[in-house]
Amino acid sequence: MSARSAGGTNGAIDFAAAIRTIADYPKPGIQFRDITTLLADAEVFRGAIDALVDGHRDERVDLVAGIEARGFILGGALAHQLAAGFVPIRKKGKLPHETIRVAYSLEYGVDEMEMHRDAVRPGQRVLLTDDLIATGGTAEGAVKLLRELGAEIVAACFVIDLPDLGGRRRLEALDVEVRTLVAFEGD
Ligand code: AMP
Repeated sequence: MSARSAGGTNGAIDFAAAIRTIADYPKPGIQFRDITTLLADAEVFRGAIDALVDGHRDERVDLVAGIEARGFILGGALAHQLAAGFVPIRKKGKLPHETIRVAYSLEYGVDEMEMHRDAVRPGQRVLLTDDLIATGGTAEGAVKLLRELGAEIVAACFVIDLPDLGGRRRLEALDVEVRTLVAFEGD
């Protein structure tokens, strides 16, 4: 496993070392980057949240939008830290009220994700989060949903970047600022 630091303010904390890598999960050839070990370490979890909110402390963030499911864990903590609300972006069929839906690409095929139609008011400033950005297909779908509701996307933040898969460039091409804490080579 190789990793390089990709910024974040908390230079004392080695985020990469706190992330567990599981080879061939969920299928052969995938290096699964498991953040449960990072979340279970109080100092590293707090340091990650602090590093992700850094740069947004002095600007208005109305809502944090988290992508199911690991984005919910980070998103709740980020929202608390920024004194913002939280809105979930969920796999289809999970939200009880009226929704908007978008299809997004996965490695094989497509899936769909949803938000409540009234989750964001036009002009609200939203910080998007998930644990990891790979191809960027999931985050791009989330950006489309948020913009359909009239959100202004402040930035998208992730603990992990897999830069070889191009997700950061894909979001930046949509004029979304991307913040990540650690990058792993390969996929
Ligand atoms: P993508 O849409 O390709 O950017 O994939 C990002 C989504 O898939 C995130 O919700 C991640 O949690 C998950 N994901 C993709 N690749 C990995 C990986 N190698 N390890 C852990 N999660 C991954």
